[in-house]
Parts: sequence; C-alpha cells; structure tokens
Amino acid sequence: MSFESLGLAQPLLKAIADAGYTTPTPIQSQAIPAVMQGGDLLAGAQTGTGKTAGFTLPMLHRLSVGQPVLNKRGKPAIRALVLTPTRELAAQVEESVKTYGKYLPLKSMVMFGGVGMQPQINRLRDGVDILVATPGRLLDHAQQGTLDLSQVQMLVLDEADRMLDMGFVHDIKKVLALLPAKKQSLLFSATFSDDIKNLADRLLNQPALIEVARRNQTNESIAQKVHPVGRERKKELLVHLIKSGDWHQVLVFTRMKHGANRLTDYLNDQGISAMAIHGNKSQGARTKALADFKSGDLTCLVATDIAARGIDIDQLPHVVNFELPNVPEDYVHRIGRTGRAGAQGEAVSLVCVDENGFLREIEKLIKREIPKDIVQGFAPDPSEKPEPIVLGRMILNNNGSRSGGGGRGGRPGGGGGGGGGGGRSAPRGGSGHAPHGSREGSRDGGAPRQAAPQGQRSGGGGRPGGGSSGGGGGRPAGGGGGGGRSPGARLTSPKR
Ligand code: AMP
Repeated sequence: MSFESLGLAQPLLKAIADAGYTTPTPIQSQAIPAVMQGGDLLAGAQTGTGKTAGFTLPMLHRLSVGQPVLNKRGKPAIRALVLTPTRELAAQVEESVKTYGKYLPLKSMVMFGGVGMQPQINRLRDGVDILVATPGRLLDHAQQGTLDLSQVQMLVLDEADRMLDMGFVHDIKKVLALLPAKKQSLLFSATFSDDIKNLADRLLNQPALIEVARRNQTNESIAQKVHPVGRERKKELLVHLIKSGDWHQVLVFTRMKHGANRLTDYLNDQGISAMAIHGNKSQGARTKALADFKSGDLTCLVATDIAARGIDIDQLPHVVNFELPNVPEDYVHRIGRTGRAGAQGEAVSLVCVDENGFLREIEKLIKREIPKDIVQGFAPDPSEKPEPIVLGRMILNNNGSRSGGGGRGGRPGGGGGGGGGGGRSAPRGGSGHAPHGSREGSRDGGAPRQAAPQGQRSGGGGRPGGGSSGGGGGRPAGGGGGGGRSPGARLTSPKR
C-alpha cells in the first residue's frame, strides 16, 4: 500500500516524501482511512509504530479540506486538539504536525507547563488551528480565560493509558467539558484497561477499532541482551561498552532521578558526554538535552522512565537498561526507543544479582528468555548476595516484593485481592504517601501532584484496571488476580 492510495492531499504527500517515508506502517494504513472518513477511532498502538503520523496526517488532511474557522478576533480558531501525557511527547507531536503540515497554511502550537504563560497567551492571540497540549497547562489557560476551545472539531488523546496512569483522569474530564459535544474523537492507547474502556465509552461514538503490536510484543528488529554484572561494576561496564563498541548515541535508563544524575557525572568524568533528563530538570534543560542528543552532539542521554516517555528519536541504535525497571512493561517501553519503524536496534540490560526477580518478570511478560552474555572481565562475583532495592521510601526485595512505607496500591502492586499469584506483594503500611521520587513532578508545572505517583492512582487502585478488593489492587505482575491490566490485554469492542 502507498500513501498516495490513502487519498491524502498533495501537500501532505510531498511532506511525507520529504520525510523519506515510502510505505505506511500498519497503524497508518488502518487509521488514516478511518479518520479521513470522519468517524471516531479507538487505536491500540504504542510509540514506535508510527502512530503519530497515523493521526496527524488525516487530521491535517481534514483540516486542510475543511472550511477555516475564525475566532472573534478574526484569527484561526482551534479546530484540532491533541492531548498528551508529557511535555516531551507534546513537543514531539507538534513537531510532527509541523513536519507533515509544512506545505499547508495551518498554524500549530504546543502548550505545556514549566514555562511562562505569557508567550503562550501571545501565541494563542495570533490564532492557532491545531493545539497540542498537556492537560494541566491547558486547564490553567482555560481557567484564566485565555483559551477558547468552543470550535474544536477533532480531539486526539495520545497515550491515553499513560495519562490515566499519571493521574490525569480528572483533568481529562474537565477538558472534555470544555469541548463541543459534536466532534471527531480519536483515542490512542498502548493498553486497554477497564479505565480506558470507560473513557472510550464516554468519549467515542461507534469507533473504528484498530490494534497493532500488543504491548508485550517486543519489536523483532531489536536485539536484546542481558549482561550479568556485579552491582558496583555497572558504571565501568557501561563505559567499556560505549568505548569498545564506539557507540555514539546511547539512551540509558535508570530507575531514579538521583541515580541518573550520579551516572551522568561519572560518564562525563570518563570522557563520555552525557546529560540527564528527568522531572527535576527545568524544561529548558530537558529540551536542550534532547536536542543535543538528537543532533549527535551528546553521546549519552540518561533518563528515567517518565521523562523518557514518548521520546522519539529516529533509528536510535542503543538502549541500555543500566537498571532494570521494577515494572516489567516499562522494559518494553524502554526498548521501544530503538529499532523503530523497521530500523535495527540493540537493547542491553546490565543486571546485577539484586534484579533477578525483575528480570524473571520481564521475561514472563515478553514470553521469551533474553540471551545472557557475560562481558569478559566483568563476570559477576558468584558470592555476591542479593540486596533489596530501595526506591525512595519503598524497598523492593530481590524477588520483586516490596516493603516499607509505600503508598497505597501502586504499580508494583499485588495481584489484587486474593489470588494475585505471581504478583508482587501488596505494600505493607496501608495508605501512606507515595513513594518518594517514584514519580516525576508531573503536572506540567513540574510540581508533583498529589494524585498519582508514577503508576499510582488516587483511590487506592494500582494501574488502570488493577485488581480490586483488598491490598494494593495493582496490576497483576504475571497472570494474577483477574481484572488487572494483563500483559497484552486485547482490544475489545467498547460498549456503546
Ligand atoms: P511514533 O510511533 O509516532 O512515535 O513514530 C515512530 C517513528 O517512526 C518516528 O520516528 C517516525 O518518524 C517514524 N515513521 C513514522 N511513519 C513512518 C513510515 N511510514 N515510514 C518510516 N518511518 C516512519
């Protein structure tokens, strides 16, 4: 199938050719015709599938063939709104809008927190056809009366599951209340929990259903490897891999912000240019780090899971899990940064004895064993004993269970009330606060919100659809109690 056969307007085909795309990806060949027909869409697709162009291209097409709408000032009114969970994703989506829309006379704008309101107000005054925004800052503008969404014809919720994970459900509801009832709505989500289905039920009208590459399917073009290594020798091993492999663009993941900072300092000391990207960094620092990394000026970008969400870098050759994530699905997200859209990539994980429990859960999720390869000179000491992993105030034991004053519910939650076999144990300590540092300051202003630390939601539940009664009600970490966000949850037809 070609882009021409999808019926996209000529200026879009020209921009697509400029971008070097020759063939639509599976999500594009299904989503583009569905959206061009004007109907609602529920799409199961994660980053790396080409989903952004999947909604951006038909959105631009429809806006370009539709009548321009002017606001009271005689400037273009917002006709399309894209909501994303993070600033980075918002910036990248808007960049895509600009890339694909470069031959169209449509104006776009990105809006997120952590930066001044006034430049955004000025930009809004100039008129905007397409607004890409994170929910918090958008509501700030709405409250101040600097934003008019009454002419919106198309709404896209991108990475909707992430938005819910990050506690944006109330914000989303508030945004929906600001929009006209009659509009075309598209919902993109990597997984389909009950919460997502509820949102889809409320928002979408007889949507087309599309699902590509389920979440527990890792991309075949990514070569995965585990390097077992001693706890204290990971840094040295990373430097060895980068130098001996002559790696020039490496995305490195750590679990915690301070770990990212420490590793960045070490790499720079070793002559490897590195910057950290996480929620404690200013928006300016994050944008600069990402730009330098993309341009090739920076060898290593060290990121935490939330900050890296949605990072889109073409053909990223190397992803390193300096520490394995304590949530197995984050592994799939992390390594999805490489080998994108058919390009070859390599994802290596440096695993010490403390993380064997995490590794087992990841392998269970992706339903395959990851090849182990001991790097010469870095063999782990067989007498090294596992130690619990401390995540802020939460302690994760090497078998994956956790203790300490963890919050309620939570991501690494047990498999819900009873029968959560295979899951991590529910936190002891009742409804304490969220584990410190487990969530990046996430409402757009940067300050952590009360509601939900990374993956934790208010109200005691774990991730969307987390098992329910009793305990933490988290996601079953491996075939546990029912109702959870099971790995590879299938997209089912929403109730109408
Ligand atoms: P996304 O899933 O939207 O984050 O896109 C993943 C990556 O695939 C982006 O870097 C896009 O530039 C790239 N991409 C999107 N569509 C295509 C296509 N049809 N052919 C090749 N690359 C593409």
